[in-house]
Amino acid sequence: MAGALGSADGDRSPGDALGRPLRDLRVSVTDRCNFRCVYCMPKEVFGRDFQFLQREELLTFEEITRLARVFVACGVRKIRVTGGEPLVRRNIERLIEQLAGIEGLRDLTMTTNGALLAPKARTLREVGLRRVTVSLDSLEDDVFKAMNDVDFPVARVLEGIEAAARAALTPVKVNMVVKRGVNDHSVLDMADHFRGTGHVLRFIEYMDVGMTNGWRLEEVVPAAEIVRSIDAVWPLELVEPNYRGEVAGRYRYRDGAGEIGAIASVTQPFCRDCTRARLSADGQLYTCLFASRGHDLRSLLRGGASDEEIAERLITIWTRRTDRHSELRTAETRPLPKVEMSRIGG
Ligand code: SAM
Ligand code: SF4
Ligand code: SF4
Repeated sequence: MAGALGSADGDRSPGDALGRPLRDLRVSVTDRCNFRCVYCMPKEVFGRDFQFLQREELLTFEEITRLARVFVACGVRKIRVTGGEPLVRRNIERLIEQLAGIEGLRDLTMTTNGALLAPKARTLREVGLRRVTVSLDSLEDDVFKAMNDVDFPVARVLEGIEAAARAALTPVKVNMVVKRGVNDHSVLDMADHFRGTGHVLRFIEYMDVGMTNGWRLEEVVPAAEIVRSIDAVWPLELVEPNYRGEVAGRYRYRDGAGEIGAIASVTQPFCRDCTRARLSADGQLYTCLFASRGHDLRSLLRGGASDEEIAERLITIWTRRTDRHSELRTAETRPLPKVEMSRIGG
């Protein structure tokens, strides 16, 4: 394999049309979810009649692993498994084990809502998952339940976070999407709760992903405002980014109580460093979170293409990539249809 595609060190790693290398891959393993977060899968749209992907449309674990190997040969170093909710896909630990065995892959993580994490954390670690990011939008049950819209209690997500920490899926990152007037009053509580735990709380600006969440700019709380409000109580200092393409602005508490992140995708877009590709559960490759269409890799796979042919297709797609939606957001006059977040996993 390595012989045909180049070394696992990614000597085939192409730059896109704006010079950005391919480094990260997000793999969505299902478009289904046990939550109906209002900013992602609103109930009115993702209701009983919603047509989710059928089983035969989903990539199998073997197909995902084969594609992932080709991506790694083309420069990818980090894979994040996501969804929908990745832990609702049956036997997900088998996929993790297969991905963990890919030579040249340096980081393997998962983003989950945490609902099913507590009983699975140890096994996931044992089969090769390195870390997890758990989404949690408030510590107040009524606020959280109104956001997940399935009446799911905070305590069970906290159990998932603690189980992940005990299983050494660390540092655990906690994602909080902040929506003005809905959970912005929970920011300080959340900061207080996670200070000193070793978990890294990351505040995410509410984004205009997909076509269904009714996004309005007034509902976005700028990351700078969030950081200022925390700094006023627990003084912060900026931390240098770990690597090119790191999306979170990092801050450390001056009193040594740990770190937070702020993801300002709306107010301070980071497209120029975006090294990320996304694979949907049905094998479409998206080169931007806001893309209106994907590139069909499943037909290639199922049509009998060789690894080398898939790699060539991938490189062609990536070298032509010009996406920078967030930087252009304000200049846009004619909105284009966009893929739903629950299909490509954020
Ligand atoms: N179900 C998993 C979860 O919630 O962690 C993984 C998939 S979810 C689409 C990935 C991340 O996207 C979550 O942290 C979620 O909070 C975030 N997200 C979803 N919709 C968003 C939106 N409109 N704006 C900002 N972040 C969003
Ligand atoms: Fe499900 Fe995650 Fe979307 Fe919430 S954010 S609806 S948990 S996929
Ligand atoms: Fe990357 Fe597209 Fe997001 Fe810009 S808008 S950071 S190109 S995914």
